[in-house]
Amino acid sequence: MSESKLQEAVHTLKTAGVRITPQRHAILEHLIESLSHPTADDIYKALEGKFPNMSVATVYNNLRVFKEVGLVKELTYGDSSSRFDCVTTDHYHIICDDCGKIVDFHYPGLDEVETLAEQVTGFKVSRHRMEIYGVCPNCIKKTQH
Ligand SMILES: [Zn+2]
Ligand SMILES: [Zn+2]
Repeated sequence: MSESKLQEAVHTLKTAGVRITPQRHAILEHLIESLSHPTADDIYKALEGKFPNMSVATVYNNLRVFKEVGLVKELTYGDSSSRFDCVTTDHYHIICDDCGKIVDFHYPGLDEVETLAEQVTGFKVSRHRMEIYGVCPNCIKKTQH
């Protein structure tokens, strides 16, 4: 599953004329395999053993390239660290108030909200973002013991 997703992503990059370096490939692979919406720093820490010469800036630049060709979405939360999400199908996020973990869940796109917003405000709507907050199962367990 993730193997074919990786191949697909590599294909998208090649089509866009982006050269596939070993680092670039590793960053992409990590993004696809980790379902945790990592920050550039998380990715750097996960791969620094494999690529000692790689810097956080390199990771960040690669993420920017992926973003430009539409492979990842950048999720900003007002703090300095953006998180990166592999673009698959549309999904929503639930975020843990305690540990900050972001988990995907699927729900039919709320198109009606966009249509209504357009009608009410006269805006041309391009997208929306909805996030649910709560406490994740791990953190619930921690407070119970
Ligand atoms: Zn948590
Ligand atoms: Zn996500």
